Formats: sequence, C-alpha cells, structure tokens
Amino acid sequence: MTPRLRPDLHTIPTYVPRLALPDSIDPIELAGNETTFGPLPSALEAVSAAAAGSNRYQDNRSGELVGALADVLAVPRDRVIAGCGSVSLCHNLALITCGAPTDEVLMAWRSFETYPIAARIAGARVVQVPLADDVHDLDAMAAAVTANTRLVFVCNPNNPTATAVGRAELERFVDAVPPHVLVCIDEAYLEFLRMPDRPDGVEIGRNRPNVVALRTFSKAYGLASLRVGYAVGDPAVIAALHRVHVAFSVGRVAQAAALASLAAPGELRRRTDAVAAERERVRDALCALGYPVPPSQANFLWLGLADEATSFTVAAAEAGIRVADYGEGVRVTIGTPAENDAFLTFAAAWARTAQQCRSA
Ligand SMILES: *Cc1c(COP(=O)(O)O)cnc(C)c1O
Repeated sequence: MTPRLRPDLHTIPTYVPRLALPDSIDPIELAGNETTFGPLPSALEAVSAAAAGSNRYQDNRSGELVGALADVLAVPRDRVIAGCGSVSLCHNLALITCGAPTDEVLMAWRSFETYPIAARIAGARVVQVPLADDVHDLDAMAAAVTANTRLVFVCNPNNPTATAVGRAELERFVDAVPPHVLVCIDEAYLEFLRMPDRPDGVEIGRNRPNVVALRTFSKAYGLASLRVGYAVGDPAVIAALHRVHVAFSVGRVAQAAALASLAAPGELRRRTDAVAAERERVRDALCALGYPVPPSQANFLWLGLADEATSFTVAAAEAGIRVADYGEGVRVTIGTPAENDAFLTFAAAWARTAQQCRSA
C-alpha cells in the first residue's frame, strides 16, 4: 500500500530539465542563462577558504553577507534576507502569503516557470495574464487583481522574453495594486539592464511596504551552483520569510563566495558590459536574418518562432548547440563571442532552409 500523499500533487507543474543530448556531443551551452565567465577569482579563493570549515554549521542568518548587502544597498539590515537561490525565496513568498485554496498568485505569462510551481506548492490558484508583444501588460495585470489576490510576481527583465518595463511604469503599477497585496519584483537579471529610467525594485520598495525585490548571485556573478539569492523589503515581510526559511539552507561556501563577489563591483561591471554589447551584436544579426527578436535587457534573447520553435531547437541540438524551447519561442543565452558566432552560423543556415521549405 502506498502512503497517503497530497491529492493535488499532480497539479504542480514539473520543472522541465534541459534537453538531453547524446553523450558524444559536448554542446555549446546556451540554454541556462548562465554566465560563461567563471566565478570571480576572489570568490573562488573565498570558496576554498570557507570549504575548510565545512564540518561546522554556518551562520543560519547569513549575518555577514546580509550586513554587506545592507551597506551596498543603503538599507537597514532587517530589510534583507538571504535564501538558497532566489527560487527558494519565490517559494517562501508564496508560503507566507497563501494558505486558503481560494488565494491567488498573479503573474504574467509567459514568465519564470518557478512562479506557478511555487504558487501550487503553497496550495494557491495560479492566475496568468498574457504578455503584450512579449512585454508585461501591467495595466491588464492591475485589472486582474481580485479580493483573493495575495501575491504578484513581476519578472523584470522577464525570463524568457528578456524585455523590461521602465521605472515609471512599474511605480504606476505598484501604486495601482491595493497595499495589502504583496508585489515581488524579481530582478535576477538586474545587472544586465542598460536602459534610461533604470527600474530598481529596492528603490521602489523603499517607501512601499508591499514591495519586495528579489536578486541573485546565480546569473551575473556566476555562482549558479552555489545557490544564494536575497530578498529586500519591509521588515515585517522579511521577518515572515525568516519563519518559513529552511534552516541552514544557505551554505557556508555560498555565503563566502557571495560576500567576496560583492567586493568586486568593477569586475562585475566589465563582465556585464561585455555581455550587453554581445547581446546587441547577436540581436542585430538575428534581426537582419529575419528573426523576430524583442529588444533584450538581459543576458539572453527571445526568438518568437511560434510553431517552428521546437524544430529550431532540435536542429540546433543536432548542430551541437543547446537552446531552450518554450513551444511558442526559443530562449538563447548570450555566450562567448565564439559561441555566439557558432549560433549565428547555425541560425543563418536554419533561416535559409526554413525559407526553402516555406516556398516549396
Ligand atoms: C535564474 C532566475 C532566478 C534565480 O534563481 P536562483 O535560485 O537564484 O539560482 C530567479 N528568477 C528568475 C526569473 C531567474 O531567471
């Protein structure tokens, strides 16, 4: 006899693993939105030093890291919590806001695949508002808030479409949402923003107790596998996140690496500048080939290929390049210049073949 489990588990969407490829292929990896730069050299040194203390439990509240983040962001320490990646903080935000089956978590779609998973694990209803031309439709989202809405996720820049909304728009949206509804601005790609009127969830949340910003060391800082992200918001929200925090889930090594990374803003800027320049080059080339690619503010591009997305992804894999297929489009991470050139060579060949098929 099988043990009794939650009857609604089948309603939790599964996290889709990246496309499996034959072992013989060592693919160009453009599916994970990772940086191709390794961790900063100073972070690697901190990792080996911290690893030597792994027999001891670390500070469960990541005090030193939280203190450094508070200094950098110019906020009091009680406005910051570290988590096991910002994904875990997405889950915890759903857990602290939702409990009843009528509770609703609102999000754009398509957006980050963790949001519906986090909402369903918390037992809440998932309410999705379609993007408009690959961009968050904030007016439609504000209109979709009901008496049951507990949490809103705004992914800015949006994963997987790479588009960003500006600061004024975001402020107008937040001010249109009732103050008892928590708005999470997920800024996993903040470091890649290069737009005037730069949206900043920490600033927007400074005088708005219902705004919480999420950031991560996984992307620009190159620490994806060490698992450390953080939330910045009202002390009451941060205290609630502490209540549901899985004890010791941010490891000693992760804390040390994040702390060291924070101390090298110049190197971070140099790296993200290089990625931003490459993304413009690759986007221009794709647009010239006829691909529909919205402007990107992140370290990846969205190819709106509609029903050709899957065949594009499979053909790319056969050419040794792994990209992420979403059924209605393809997400391609910006790699090294040589990797991007290999991708563009593939994309040019695919465009020619697709053109021939269409006219045949
Ligand atoms: C990658 C990503 C994260 C960060 O995940 P971690 O758990 O910090 O590795 C959060 N939000 C979005 C939208 C992402 O794409």
